[in-house]
Amino acid sequence: MGTGRNLCEVSFLALSENESFARMVAAAFVLPLNPTVEELADIKTAISEAVTNAILHGYNQDGKGMVTMRFEREENRLTFVVQDNGVGIENVEKAMEPLYTSKPELERSGMGFSFMEAFMDSLLVESSPGNGCKVTMEKYICPLNDEASSETD
Ligand code: ATP
Ligand code: MG
Repeated sequence: MGTGRNLCEVSFLALSENESFARMVAAAFVLPLNPTVEELADIKTAISEAVTNAILHGYNQDGKGMVTMRFEREENRLTFVVQDNGVGIENVEKAMEPLYTSKPELERSGMGFSFMEAFMDSLLVESSPGNGCKVTMEKYICPLNDEASSETD
């Protein structure tokens, strides 16, 4: 395991009940690489933050738009794309600042992008008003992980 190439694409309605679905799909995609518990938790958190943003900010939880995730693996290098066709972001740089949130009334802390940046190896946010948002994250899974340290499901 942990060699070669894999690709997965999945789309779902922008409903908060699909956040756990998204996390589980990401985990299932990564498990053959035998990730550590920490690597798996990092990926699930980052995916969760990106998907929550798409549902909450992109579509204002309208439950009508679609969120698409595309996962790619090249050996032990993983690329995760989370994309929506929602309202988009006017100032991406500002949106990515720690503690910035456009929805303080919903008790958001403005740390989603900061978590994605901290837990993944790279983060790219492409967005403009009316054109949705595309978040691309990369993560390298250490191939020397001990089998005993991995989760199985
Ligand atoms: P938290 O993630 O801590 O609950 P937050 O979602 O406001 O709070 P971030 O995830 O860092 O914080 O996002 C910062 C801001 O970027 C959001 O408040 C929102 O204005 C904007 N944003 C993020 N993702 C999207 C998206 N997919 N579509 C439109 N706007 C977005
Ligand atoms: Mg967020």
